[in-house]
Amino acid sequence: MIASGNRRTVIGVLLTLTLAIAVLAGLGATGRLTLIHEPVPGQAAAVVDEVPGEETGPVCPLDKRYVDEKPEGLRQDVLAGFTRLREAAGKQGVRLCVEDSKRSRGQQQREFDSAVKRFGSKDQASRYVLSPDQSMHVKGIAVDVQPLASAAWVETNGRALGWCRRYQNEKWHFEYDTNYVTGGCPALLPSATGF
Ligand SMILES: [Zn+2]
Repeated sequence: MIASGNRRTVIGVLLTLTLAIAVLAGLGATGRLTLIHEPVPGQAAAVVDEVPGEETGPVCPLDKRYVDEKPEGLRQDVLAGFTRLREAAGKQGVRLCVEDSKRSRGQQQREFDSAVKRFGSKDQASRYVLSPDQSMHVKGIAVDVQPLASAAWVETNGRALGWCRRYQNEKWHFEYDTNYVTGGCPALLPSATGF
């Protein structure tokens, strides 16, 4: 009787342990998923960096030189901010085509590698294309809007919704930060690469 009772206790403990491990594993997986959409800067950067965006999309109906890809993979608050921007534009009859938005580290690295081939060296390539560590597209906070007439609308009206143009040489590139709403857009930098 005692031996059998002990065995039951051991089985009970084992079952409890197995359950506890399963619950912890589940929480771990959920925690990781939550992290991908964690809007706190710094905390989720490493995970967000790995999220790819669309490689391309349907032709932009305003100008067939551009595409209108889905802005998938952007940080969750940035995606919500872009949806608000697009709705505000639509109310004024302006359509925004997304030429490019989220890129994973791998996608950015491929762009950099092809620039190295094209320009002959990493030094030259880095004048035109950012490394995965530097790109705001990898961080999931940047959207390239085309055609330029639509980008001009964003430059004029985007700040109130947290969107600012950042670079003199990229009329199409906008970054999202709610501090822009109150603090205004920062002064334009000559370029993203510093050249
Ligand atoms: Zn850009």
